[in-house]
Amino acid sequence: MTDRELMYDSHGDTARVPELLDRVERDHDSAAWHELERRLTVGAPLTFPASFAALPRLVRLAGSSSRALGLAGRIVRYAAATDGCDDLLENCTASIVELGSLLDEELRARPDHYLDLFRYLLATRQQYHWAAVLQDSPDAAYRVGCPHCPVDVTMVIGSRAQYSTIRTEQLNDVGGAPCGRRPPSSSPARGDGCTRRPSATAGTHWPRRSSTSSVRAECPRCAALFTFADEYTAANRPLV
Ligand SMILES: [Zn+2]
Repeated sequence: MTDRELMYDSHGDTARVPELLDRVERDHDSAAWHELERRLTVGAPLTFPASFAALPRLVRLAGSSSRALGLAGRIVRYAAATDGCDDLLENCTASIVELGSLLDEELRARPDHYLDLFRYLLATRQQYHWAAVLQDSPDAAYRVGCPHCPVDVTMVIGSRAQYSTIRTEQLNDVGGAPCGRRPPSSSPARGDGCTRRPSATAGTHWPRRSSTSSVRAECPRCAALFTFADEYTAANRPLV
């Protein structure tokens, strides 16, 4: 079996995707885009060998095509959920870096579909877990174990409030402490979680979620202070 024969899409075909790429490169062929999207990513977050083979061409189109940008972003985001694609993903490293730059640039314009693009950007930086769990909610809540005592701390990081609490199964909050920011001179962040905040989020339009990385949480039970993103990432980051 040749390398080309291994590059199948969601229909098991190998020749159709290159044809469709030719069509979308020539003109804005909406029907071709639609079929391309179905063949490279399907409803469930899955990608296929053909998805990675198409990625360099999609990234080249992404500078002038929002549809290509979105499709390339979805492919990279869904890569974490696709078994056995590590080698294919590694072969796309240069394209993924370029895609990250394009997404960063696009996010500076604060597009309406900001969250989707931000998730794609996180995926290009291998923050697959954050790309999956980031919530678009005024009261987004994330649970993480306190690193100093045996209690689960729930962080509420929304547009209305930011605080840490112990949330019961009945969703009642027991105790609570406002979240603080890590001062610039504090000890450096450990791990490689969301501490490398994408530069496009440095503005003010996305104040809560974008600053999740720097939130210092306080355990309501033992009063220990810890960096929320580091603990959450360490506890939840999948092996890729
Ligand atoms: Zn504690």
